[in-house]
Amino acid sequence: MIISMRLHATKQEIDHVCERVKDFGFRVHSIEGEQRVVIGVVGSGGDVTACLESLEATPGVERAVRITAPYKFVSKEFRKERTVIKVGKAEVGGDEFVTMAGPCSVENERQIMETAEAVAAAGAKILRGGAFKPRTSPYDFQGMEGEGLKLLAKAREATGLAIITEVMSDSDVELVAEYADILQIGARNMQNFALLKSLGRCGRPVMLKRGLSATIKELLMSAEYVVAHGNPQVMLCERGIRTFETATRNTCDITAVPVLNELTHLPVILDPSHATGKRSLVPALARAGVAIGADGMIVEVHPCPEKAVSDGAQSLTIEGFRQMMNGLKGYIELWQKDRQSELVLA
Ligand code: PEP
Ligand code: MN
Repeated sequence: MIISMRLHATKQEIDHVCERVKDFGFRVHSIEGEQRVVIGVVGSGGDVTACLESLEATPGVERAVRITAPYKFVSKEFRKERTVIKVGKAEVGGDEFVTMAGPCSVENERQIMETAEAVAAAGAKILRGGAFKPRTSPYDFQGMEGEGLKLLAKAREATGLAIITEVMSDSDVELVAEYADILQIGARNMQNFALLKSLGRCGRPVMLKRGLSATIKELLMSAEYVVAHGNPQVMLCERGIRTFETATRNTCDITAVPVLNELTHLPVILDPSHATGKRSLVPALARAGVAIGADGMIVEVHPCPEKAVSDGAQSLTIEGFRQMMNGLKGYIELWQKDRQSELVLA
């Protein structure tokens, strides 16, 4: 059960609601939010219907709802309207299709600055770039870490782009949150529960990438961890899953986008780079992402992919990125019309 209090409900009203919940044999799991408090209630003891009816009539309560999905806060049952996450000049989940672009790894100042300027000019609003890299081999480049974060901040200053970068460990959350506008949780860490919990209080939006073999339900349960621990600003990312197919690096579960749109109010981002592993396939998949209703995309771009220290084969050149963005314009116009009519209907 989730209880949304009215805006600026008083402490007495909140305490009273918690007492009522206990009277009915349930337990208050969490109390979140400052201006608008949301109370999460768990337990299977009491009469849910009677409790809901009583709460709806209790002072300070705006709405009390029963959530049947195992993921509560992130479900559409909890909230019908899309979650809109403001990041720099962009609004993810709103009425613009947001493009995040940049290299797989931050490699040096020249590389990140050149890429940032170019992707900004081509229409990206958010710069991606890994400073902490999850690599399959311990002998591969592991990222520039703190120095990489500083370069990203420099690129933000020069271009106005917001920054998304990966955090791999709960002990690095504070440091990465100092620099990043969005904390990226990589596919390999989607079920790192200590990390997910620590994101609850990081004060930054989070982009959670779907694990290599994770179901959609597992992805939503991971998002629930972050929200239940206090951070409602979560976006999800489909980046391909592992299947028997070897023609592409991963198999893009494109259907995941509308499935997620049915199940959750959180924004959904498509990653056509990791989903394919192959530069030539990225523009087609990006078009599919726009057409199927993703809220945005995250794309790898490198000034010289053949020299990239990671993921060169799937990185677009700067010119390739420009061409892709040009080719997407008509699709994005249709996307916008669709979004606007949805807002009018709502
Ligand atoms: C990345 O974005 O560079 C990355 C490592 O992605 P994923 O976690 O999806 O493999
Ligand atoms: Mn990569």
